[in-house]
Amino acid sequence: MRALPLEFSEYMWAPSSEELAKRVELDISQIVRFDGNVPAQPSAAARPGAVAAALAEVNGYAHGGFPALVEAIADYAGVEPENVVLGAGADDLILLSARTFAGPGDVVAIAESPTYPLYRTAAHLAGAEVGGDTPAVTFSCRPNNPTGELGALPQARPLVVDEAYFEYAGETAIGLIEEGVVVLRTFSKAFALAGARVGYALADAETAAELNRRQAPQPISNISAALALAALRDRPDVSDQVQERERCGRALVALGLEPLASATNFLFVPVDESEKIGAALLRSGVVVRGFADGFRFSVRDREDDDLLLEALARILDRPSPVAAAAARRVRHLRATAETRIRVRLGLDGAGRVRVSTGVGIYDHFLEQLAFHAGFDLVLEGVGDLETGAHHTAEDASLALGEALDMVLGDRRGVSRYGDSVVPMDDALARAAVDLGGRPAFELQLERDPGLATHMLQSLAQAGRLALHVEASGRDEHHVAEAAFKAVGRALRAAVRIEGTGIPSTKGSL
Ligand code: PMP
Repeated sequence: MRALPLEFSEYMWAPSSEELAKRVELDISQIVRFDGNVPAQPSAAARPGAVAAALAEVNGYAHGGFPALVEAIADYAGVEPENVVLGAGADDLILLSARTFAGPGDVVAIAESPTYPLYRTAAHLAGAEVGGDTPAVTFSCRPNNPTGELGALPQARPLVVDEAYFEYAGETAIGLIEEGVVVLRTFSKAFALAGARVGYALADAETAAELNRRQAPQPISNISAALALAALRDRPDVSDQVQERERCGRALVALGLEPLASATNFLFVPVDESEKIGAALLRSGVVVRGFADGFRFSVRDREDDDLLLEALARILDRPSPVAAAAARRVRHLRATAETRIRVRLGLDGAGRVRVSTGVGIYDHFLEQLAFHAGFDLVLEGVGDLETGAHHTAEDASLALGEALDMVLGDRRGVSRYGDSVVPMDDALARAAVDLGGRPAFELQLERDPGLATHMLQSLAQAGRLALHVEASGRDEHHVAEAAFKAVGRALRAAVRIEGTGIPSTKGSL
């Protein structure tokens, strides 16, 4: 074996969520990762249907490579297909660039410090040294990880510019690829496909050809290529993430902290005792990336980021800049070949509700149910809407029922029974619920826009509830909506904490 330089260090992954949960004795569903710089949800295009054709040919090689993907990338980046080099993530292309430009006896320069550690690792693996004098190649991370800063573009050539976070920054060195600049990009960040491992390099045709000659025979899989191609059909929209990053920044300032200005989907927060703060955050299930002089966290979405901000306020003993999360809460993912539904449910919430699966009125009904139950609920997902609303609406209800069952646990201390009467214009609904653990349903909705009865049935089944509902009226929307509201009101009463025991004379449910 060829010896590695003494200063070599391999790329270090953070521990798995299973391992972290074990360390702090939390359920794995309570672990929220803010340390990967990836979006909170997969690309909406990442559906089983997107890979079905690729899966049907997974026994074969992709002879001739992935010309459709290369073309789509070229189109997205505004270059020609001969300027594109595919790789298994930007990481693969960092390694490829280092070994293409540098070898034993060469020096590789790294423009920023601190920065992404793989440039150094790649230089050493290529047999080169890291330094500043007459480099064979220079790496620059723009915007930079971990600071988030968008620095000046180095003058050095050849120059490899890592634009993993390009979409958040909007600034690129692509205009310089004919002048000794290689640009690296990825589907891991704005396209939310980190697990698929797809990245690309953009270079002048000659350099791209050289990189391709030295690249592994088929660095990505046909399944990953299908995912990337599906994701490229829509340009990623990162505006929500950017807004959320700014909101987090303001909340951190309100906590007396000074996050660095960021052109990415993460923030670097300088703190003393970073290790202590990281460990304390982990005890709340919040995983950040620690550095000697601060910590870095990826912006997820409002509800998740509020968990981090609230935990941080508690640790720093300062007033929380955000509303408190529900004490009884759960995170749940239901994924089938037809749908993918993510649920965050808090029982003692403040009616902070967001339901978004694309099934229109059924999302609206679930929102009504959760709001009137006093839950905090974020239920998001994608489904095979091309087959109609059935699978998606049903799975949304099942996922909510499963989450409810999970968060109720052994149902100790809850009131167990609840009932309500809800009038709504011409409609009147009555609901009664028993959290006794035996699924049962007696549902009489005089009119139904289609799936309302079925959704309530699915909720009762998955939530292990006995649910009785009678609803009548002249307008089908009102009848169903009143029924969902009534179930919400009944649940509000049934989940209330009344004691500490199992709510049954049997002593068990
Ligand atoms: N470059 C930078 C600056 C990064 O932060 C990361 C990932 N954290 C990568 C490259 C690797 O991305 P990929 O998943 O495409 O390998």
